Amino acid sequence: MFEENLWQTVLAQIQLNISEANFATWFKNTQILSKEEEKIVISVPNSFAKEWLENKYQRTILKVLHRQDSKIKKIDFIVGKTNLRTQETPFIVPKTDQPELKISKSSKTGLNPRYTFENFIVGSFNELAHAAAWAVSENPGLVYNPLFVYGKVGLGKTHLLQAVGNEIAKRSPEKEMRYSSAEMLVSGIVSSIRDQTIEKFKALHKKIDVLIIDDIQFLAGKEKTQEEFFHIFNTLYHNQKQIILSSDHPPKAIPALAERLRSRFEGGMIADIGYPDFETRIAILKTKAQEKKDLIPENVYNFLASTIQTNIRELEGALNRVILFQKTYNRKITLDEVKSLLKEITVSPLQKNTPKRLIQTVAEFYDLKEKDILSNSRKKEIVRPRQIAMYLLRKKMQSSYPFIARIFGGKDHTTAIYAFEKISKELQKNEGLERDLNLIYMQLLNG
Ligand code: ADP
Ligand code: MG
Repeated sequence: MFEENLWQTVLAQIQLNISEANFATWFKNTQILSKEEEKIVISVPNSFAKEWLENKYQRTILKVLHRQDSKIKKIDFIVGKTNLRTQETPFIVPKTDQPELKISKSSKTGLNPRYTFENFIVGSFNELAHAAAWAVSENPGLVYNPLFVYGKVGLGKTHLLQAVGNEIAKRSPEKEMRYSSAEMLVSGIVSSIRDQTIEKFKALHKKIDVLIIDDIQFLAGKEKTQEEFFHIFNTLYHNQKQIILSSDHPPKAIPALAERLRSRFEGGMIADIGYPDFETRIAILKTKAQEKKDLIPENVYNFLASTIQTNIRELEGALNRVILFQKTYNRKITLDEVKSLLKEITVSPLQKNTPKRLIQTVAEFYDLKEKDILSNSRKKEIVRPRQIAMYLLRKKMQSSYPFIARIFGGKDHTTAIYAFEKISKELQKNEGLERDLNLIYMQLLNG
């Protein structure tokens, strides 16, 4: 049991540092099988997971393990020796805030029961999307098909999509329902192509009555997945099964999306979610505080709603900090205290990193020396990591182009712009690069 604890500790740390979807895909159904002096053996659900963990996460896992037990030098991953039933489940349930999803209906549908219409607040910013979603939940497959909801991050797309799913499940429990992030869809399709079970995968999905795919922009550039998804989509569509999609952009603005999919996506109802206005932000805060049975001072609501304007998730995060504070000290928070609390929230973990450390991490990842990356070398194996470092400085640390150019030996700032644009473009079609960047990012967070 000691071993189990060790692995749980490792997982907990890794979970903090990678995306929910990545964690669910690669780590969720792993178990520790044994631990000897220098070696631990981890069971993984399939060969695809094994490959990823070995190639992409091994170093990070070892690093975290070392903090627990410095003797461990080696990890073996073995496929299949586990009692968890992952192989039959084509989509892995994305982890939300629930510690462990019970083996209930929700683990089959992928839905989180927390997201409902009842606790979804409607304002002019999301009125259209809400109305369309509600209509779909009353008449799945018949009114708007597909329903395509788009909006920026943290504004309620996932909540709304899941609310439709939960509502339909409530009204028609017999309906076959599946919620999945596009990231999971991709990994489901990719791994079933590998295992030569893609026909089975498709057959399973063609039987679904309500298919909900979140963050469909993730399909950008993934041609094979798009092709397989196209077939699933068509079958469902022709059988009047409901398809619901979300994205951060409208279909026409999703890059590297096959034309035929784009036109399918545009064939139903497209509804956007904008930014909530001040009054709505206050209403959201008050409702959430009420749900948590805690009240905070009026001026604090105002302060939060005027400081955090474009992301409901952040608004909620700030509120939770305030509530936690009040619970801890068993009294109301003051405005000054809120201000200092918020300061911490707004500094992202990466801002605590220095550009120097970022460059070191990138260099290390590509087996180069820091001075190589900072040099003027035009060698391909150096130019690319250099561009990646520039990209990350801009993207993750919000460095200005002239600043980046200065760090890299006084290059012209257009060099930094060029690097940023080149890597951004490449990221849209190169999954491997995306994976690498995630790993680098994770290493930075890990310190
Ligand atoms: P997105 O998928 O667009 O990034 P989410 O659906 O994950 O955003 O929403 C982020 C958080 O904000 C969630 O906790 C969600 O419950 C909450 N939220 C978003 N919109 C609303 C809303 N209209 N009413 C209540 N809560 C909301
Ligand atoms: Mg979402």
